[in-house]
Amino acid sequence: MGKIISLKEMKPGQRARIKEITATGSIRRRLLDIGLVEGTEIKCVGKSPAGDPSAFYIRGAVIAIRSEDSSNVLAEAEDVVQPERRIVALAGNPNVGKSTVFNGLTGLKQHTGNWPGKTVSSARGICSTERHSIELVDIPGTYSMLAHSQEEEVARDFLESGEAEVTIVVCDATCLERSLNLALQIIEICPKVMLCVNLMDEAKKRGIQIDLDLISERMGITVVGTAARKKATLTELKHRLDELLDTDKTEVHREYLGIEEREKIKKSSELSQREKEDKTVSSLTETAERICKDAVTYSGEHDIRDRQLDRIFTGRLWAYPTMLLMLALILWITIVGANYPSELLSAGFAKLQVKLTALFNASGAPVWLHDMLVLGVYRVLSWVVSVMLPPMAIFFPLFTILEDAGYLPRIAYNMDKAFKCCGACGKQALTTCMGFGCNAVGVMGCRIIDSPRERLLAILTNNFVPCNGRFSALIAIITMFFASGSVSGDFRAALILTLLIVFGISAALAATALLSKTLLKGMPSSFTLELPPYRRPQFGKVIVRSILDRTIFVLARAAAAAAPAGMIVWILANTFIGDMSILSRMVDFMEPIGKFMGLDGAILTAFILGLPANEIVIPITIMIYTSQGSLSDLGSLAEMQQLFTENGWTIVTAICTMIFYLMHWPCATTLLTIKKETGSVKWTLMAALIPTAAGFILCSLIALVF
Ligand code: GDP
Repeated sequence: MGKIISLKEMKPGQRARIKEITATGSIRRRLLDIGLVEGTEIKCVGKSPAGDPSAFYIRGAVIAIRSEDSSNVLAEAEDVVQPERRIVALAGNPNVGKSTVFNGLTGLKQHTGNWPGKTVSSARGICSTERHSIELVDIPGTYSMLAHSQEEEVARDFLESGEAEVTIVVCDATCLERSLNLALQIIEICPKVMLCVNLMDEAKKRGIQIDLDLISERMGITVVGTAARKKATLTELKHRLDELLDTDKTEVHREYLGIEEREKIKKSSELSQREKEDKTVSSLTETAERICKDAVTYSGEHDIRDRQLDRIFTGRLWAYPTMLLMLALILWITIVGANYPSELLSAGFAKLQVKLTALFNASGAPVWLHDMLVLGVYRVLSWVVSVMLPPMAIFFPLFTILEDAGYLPRIAYNMDKAFKCCGACGKQALTTCMGFGCNAVGVMGCRIIDSPRERLLAILTNNFVPCNGRFSALIAIITMFFASGSVSGDFRAALILTLLIVFGISAALAATALLSKTLLKGMPSSFTLELPPYRRPQFGKVIVRSILDRTIFVLARAAAAAAPAGMIVWILANTFIGDMSILSRMVDFMEPIGKFMGLDGAILTAFILGLPANEIVIPITIMIYTSQGSLSDLGSLAEMQQLFTENGWTIVTAICTMIFYLMHWPCATTLLTIKKETGSVKWTLMAALIPTAAGFILCSLIALVF
């Protein structure tokens, strides 16, 4: 404890011990009655929004005391005052750079991308300004507070809770008028609002001038301009945020902003709900127009470049060919690029294995320990890393570049009709794209779809696109059985993979259509999706982010699943019941079903044991083969192919394995995510059943025909 102060001077969060009451008479009595006797420990819990009275925690109760009274109580204050953390919310339309602002302010690495709907739940981060420590809450991007979708609801609930002291509304300088719509709604529910007009650099490029001071003056709120990609432009924002946190009240021009008008509409007893909504929306639009009139001026033609690009990417003639070409190109670059590093890595791991074995021998460790850790855990891990890392490290950045450039929403735009025909929503194309990275992420992304029915459709069919784990395994199989190490072989491999993925997407569409005609009947709802401007991707950042956020993340998860799985498989293979290991018994049991599907018992067992992560199916297959038979060291894909061929693989086995890889139950993480998103065991089971049934039928048919 330290210096003596009056309670009036206490800061929120500060503790003190009562010394003396200097008041006399009835005030003194009252203060004693509430427990302020000498030696009592108290804490200031906060101040009323107007700054007075303050609330104190006294003997188990929270009591508000006016400053004129609290100034009469002296206390010994705690020396170190924890800086109080102020809560500030960050709101805005999707794709206005909200995550970029958030990252710039907090130094956190939220994933950013050029398409609406990435932020599906609130992220929190700490930001220090000159005078304050701030907890910044990034709420989901929404177009309005009228709550059509789940994320709008999350956003609205948070803002209405009043938890945030200040709300920063991030607006898009290139279409300010529209951004203001949301800002106006937020001004109605939040006490202190600040406008952050982002993308000022882009507006300038397109010949749009914005008089920020004029807007601030008209609205009666703080307005700052930023270009969030350049961190320096956020300094002014921090500065103004400090000012806003330190002022008691802001004077918004309610009349001018039409707030009174809209309150009248809300209260009116003559209007129907629909009329109220209509009138509210037109009041908002008119107000936004009024604010921007004179304040925003255009010079020259804008958008020309974007419309030209759109002619290629979304035009009648070129849209679909470019889409396919782009997919094939990405896959080709991935396959070709992955080969060499993959071989290097696997050779490196093989060398290290020899060293590890020598180390074990030298240390006199028991043979079983060496076998379990080196042949079990180490080998599966090294397979996962050497086969998965290179394709991922190539595919993810390429995909992120498309994302950053603004191409992904165009895919949804191009594909909407196909999805609509299947009774679904074009946004499903976006969640499907996300599924390429990781199905769990794709399933979570389905929150951007408004209608619950369509959301469920998208969730149930997301697993039809191969996630990165399966993707790399498919590349491995294709390279072994279909590419021949030549340039034309690489082309063939890329073509086969493209076809396989197009097939997966078609299967997803077919399953969607089937579901929407049977279990999930209903009409497709409306579809609105913003097609953001094309932006030059930030290559450096794309690479760093996609490697750090996605590649390492997915790889770490796969490795975390692979290590224990390797151990378990080794134990199963080396624990004997009678004269057969448990693993052999499982394989034997699965053999007839496997054979019926054009696979074998080992592959099917591997699929089952691979539930924790799809990427470990092939290494488990290898372990099963090697624990029973000949080859013990696998340097390259060529040796692996030899092992597979020795175990009876033919082209048909390879095809069936690939098909089953494409269509079987989702991995454990995805299943858990589906359970969380749907809240239903039934739908989670359906999500596993649908692709499995499709895969089973298809593989069996292929096996029958051949
Ligand atoms: P959010 O959906 O609002 O969170 O938007 P993001 O933060 O993901 O940003 C969308 C895209 O706009 C990304 O490609 C960002 O790099 C880009 N971006 C964000 N702020 C700016 C800016 O001030 N200037 C420019 N040129 N691009 C920006």
